Amino acid sequence: TGEPTGHHDIDASALIIEENKTLREPPPSSSLVFGHSFADHMLAVNWNGATGWAAPRIQPYGPLTLDPSSVIFHYAPSLFEGMKAYKDVEGRVRLFRPDMNMKRMNTSAERMALPTFSGKELTKLIAKLVSLDSNWIPSEPGYSLYIRPTLIGTQAALGVHPANDALLFVISSPVGPYYKTGFKPVALEADPSLVRAWPGGVGQYKLGANYGPGIRVQMEAAKRGYQQNLWLFGEEHWLTEVGTMNLFVALKRDDGSTELVTPPLNGTILPGVTRDSILGLARDHVSKKAPIEGLPDNLVVSEREINMGEIIKASEKGSLIEMFGAGTAAIVSPVDRVGFKGRDIQIPAGEEGAGPIAKAMLKSITDIQLGRVNHPWSVLV
Ligand code: PMP
Repeated sequence: TGEPTGHHDIDASALIIEENKTLREPPPSSSLVFGHSFADHMLAVNWNGATGWAAPRIQPYGPLTLDPSSVIFHYAPSLFEGMKAYKDVEGRVRLFRPDMNMKRMNTSAERMALPTFSGKELTKLIAKLVSLDSNWIPSEPGYSLYIRPTLIGTQAALGVHPANDALLFVISSPVGPYYKTGFKPVALEADPSLVRAWPGGVGQYKLGANYGPGIRVQMEAAKRGYQQNLWLFGEEHWLTEVGTMNLFVALKRDDGSTELVTPPLNGTILPGVTRDSILGLARDHVSKKAPIEGLPDNLVVSEREINMGEIIKASEKGSLIEMFGAGTAAIVSPVDRVGFKGRDIQIPAGEEGAGPIAKAMLKSITDIQLGRVNHPWSVLV
């Protein structure tokens, strides 16, 4: 007794597939609403403290049955990922940097006292799931299948303690492009009285509990004509993130160079896959390893703190070039206005609604995701 039995880690080779006998017709691409329709199958892997990860199952998409005492409903041990599968120019299925999502998911799991797992094995299972549901991946450019891996504590027992039972599941949803008819820059409200994350907190983890509280404040900002919150931190109003995206600002420097700034991963910032990709591409441009058309030659890439004082000064000096959010859903989301302390700061957003760096990054990343250029970040399924 007490000896663990069965599979310790997730083992993709133990997969059991129960095919859906009542396959549905995916909705026409033109009518897709983000996250409203789901592919025919889901992946589910149970975990138990004594036996480890059970055999993974691919099964028909459908409701879960959980005991009302399950810890998930009371103390919110829940974390998730957001990633996408794409049909490339030749109709093959690709994932974008799945290793980054697996790494982040394990980091979140560790913080939440939920079980960790082999990211390689889960990636194999996700590949299997999206292959089985590949008719749900729209093939029009800009469309994709959004993948939502989720891990929850399911132990049926009240009490704030590590869950002895957990469930990892993966569902997927066909999604359309963020910008169907060109860029639409957004207005942000920067309210210094709101805080998304704080030092020693959990802002750097993708926990469900980090997102619910943002809904109300976004609704309030929307009433005043701002689509998203610009999350600030501290007395000096440090910029952190935009809604549920990482933040980039481009500034003209006195020596004529362009500085691309994003806040450093100091514990309050979610380590975005898109953020990391933009930094990587920008640095490869600077080192001339892989120059990108549309980016300035004299680019400086900075992971550093930037506050509202600096934004206001740059705006007054005319040295603010552009600002954009970065995340899986939109890739880039240009900003044209920031409301702060009762006034609006106008941000240049270019004639087409996006600045030069946002535009160049969107193109470079899309080219990789769709296999138009060969890049190790794009993984064939
Ligand atoms: N910040 C927050 C708070 C987010 O929820 C997301 C979306 N996961 C991001 C940034 C962007 O991350 P990614 O590029 O990995 O989608």
